[in-house]
Amino acid sequence: TTSRTLLDVQNVSAAYGRAQVLFGVDLSLRSGEVVALMGRNGAGKTTTLKAIMGLIPSEGRITFEGEMITGQQPYRIARLGLGYVPEERRIFTDLTVYENLEVGRKAAGSTANAWTPERLFAIFPNLAEMKGRRASAMSGGEQQMLTIARTLMGNPHAVLLDEPSEGLAPVIVEQMADAVLAMKAEGIAVLLSEQNLYFASAVSDRAYVIEKGAIRYEGTTADLEANDEIREAYLSM
Ligand code: ATP
Repeated sequence: TTSRTLLDVQNVSAAYGRAQVLFGVDLSLRSGEVVALMGRNGAGKTTTLKAIMGLIPSEGRITFEGEMITGQQPYRIARLGLGYVPEERRIFTDLTVYENLEVGRKAAGSTANAWTPERLFAIFPNLAEMKGRRASAMSGGEQQMLTIARTLMGNPHAVLLDEPSEGLAPVIVEQMADAVLAMKAEGIAVLLSEQNLYFASAVSDRAYVIEKGAIRYEGTTADLEANDEIREAYLSM
């Protein structure tokens, strides 16, 4: 299979005020791939995803589908087909599961080959079971899945997921892994930030390890699992 580069991040630096946090991050995401951005707490994973989405100012060169997106507004980047699911859930707790998905569709406008709630329920079977339930009655993990499903309603070609497995009960972690693999099967490329090597190895093809705002390792997730030195130095597992 031929894969093309969807997202290309070159030499990206970012700071919060005077505190520089990213120091020349390089990474890429090709079509059809699931890639994990791994690293400890505070290593710079969330900041990297926010820089890509234009949520914080950054320097360097970021392209998506060949278009320069560095410094563009987040809504414009999303409109190019790059979805973003932050760590904190973004759902309407007063609305039902189904209504939350409908809101996602209205926000995206209509496009060919669009997602529908019904198609999404095949990827998130647990959401199907509770489609009439108010989101406020769902567990944190279920709300996290609903946030991802809502993002897919915008028909992204690629999605950034910030720590999708964090704080989830083990059974929900498995459902989350299945959902990521189902997204991949649907042709959606995924870049996810992750601390859990077991989750990353279950879903991703390649991995980057970030530490103190720079990429320290790049390779297949299988090679990373076998690399005791890198794991012990940067992943604490
Ligand atoms: P975590 O798992 O904790 O989310 P992370 O790898 O995603 O870790 P970041 O959230 O990107 O790490 O944080 C990288 C560094 O930037 C940390 O030192 C953090 O304290 C700092 N930082 C994050 N957000 C801010 C902010 N709004 N203002 C100042 N410093 C920040």
